[in-house]
Amino acid sequence: AKQEGRQCYRFFTQEMQARSARNLQLVNALRHALDRSQLQVHYQPQISMRDGAIIGAEALLRWQHPELGMVSPAEFIPVAEGSGLILPIGEWVLRCAVQQAKAWVNEGFGPLIMAVNLSAVQFRHPDLPELVTRILDEEGLPPEYLELELTEGVAMHNPQSAIAVMNNLQERGVRMSIDDFGTGYSSLSYLKEFKVYKLKIDQSFVRDISTDPEDKVIVSAIINLAKSLGLKTIAEGVETEGQQAFLREQGCDEMQGYLFSKPVSAEQFDALLKQGFAA
Ligand code: C2E
Ligand code: CA
Ligand code: CA
Ligand code: CA
Repeated sequence: AKQEGRQCYRFFTQEMQARSARNLQLVNALRHALDRSQLQVHYQPQISMRDGAIIGAEALLRWQHPELGMVSPAEFIPVAEGSGLILPIGEWVLRCAVQQAKAWVNEGFGPLIMAVNLSAVQFRHPDLPELVTRILDEEGLPPEYLELELTEGVAMHNPQSAIAVMNNLQERGVRMSIDDFGTGYSSLSYLKEFKVYKLKIDQSFVRDISTDPEDKVIVSAIINLAKSLGLKTIAEGVETEGQQAFLREQGCDEMQGYLFSKPVSAEQFDALLKQGFAA
């Protein structure tokens, strides 16, 4: 058993070494990603269940590295958070998205809500509310066109201070939504105090909605909970007509997913808007 334990330990450290080598490689590469123009923001349409119109966009970061290739945000966002690089990168995403939203409003595609993901590190930074207002002012976008997506974990880490930051942002006119709703731990009593206006139903519940009775129950419970609290709902990861039909029947307000479109470049999104899917 002792022998096994030692082998197990060796295997563990090798794996850890490999992981931290990759981490180091990513941090070093990420440091230059911004000034070497390797980052891009893509946009995924958010669709009204009522009439199928595009009513919003979620900004999603893309990183194309010359040697590493396309690195998934699921891998590099945690690295960016751990190294503090998420602050300059997050600010850059926010400015890109706000600029783009302004351009679409100018083209006559308003009201189009631009949703931007906020990491915990950004949310806890004391200058966040001012930074958001400054970017909106500089780019000339009315605050109600911006929505910030927070996960339950970010809000529940320190609920009292989260409530204060949310109140501050709300007073500035910015909307907030809870991302990946249902996967984290959020107390229902806090949900009432959080100044969010929309719940994003996590795609893990949406995936098997057509076949799994438990997922059906969970999704319909989330929609009803949101309704009774006066919140809107959007379902993520909608890929099939069957999922869409169930969500519509349950009274879900909006959807986002490959059924309509994957995240696309600003140019491609522009083309979707011009095809007449806009409100
Ligand atoms: P998320 O915020 O939950 O974003 C939704 C993810 O689901 C995106 O993955 C999107 O491309 C994917 N998705 C959309 N529709 C479908 C579908 O129908 N089926 C499936 N299977 N997937 C779908 P992506 O772009 O790889 O992003 C992964 C995560 O990385 C995001 O999850 C978010 O947590 C984080 N992320 C991405 N961009 C940013 C950013 O600018 N800032 C921060 N802080 N995080 C970001
Ligand atoms: Ca999101
Ligand atoms: Ca999500
Ligand atoms: Ca997620």
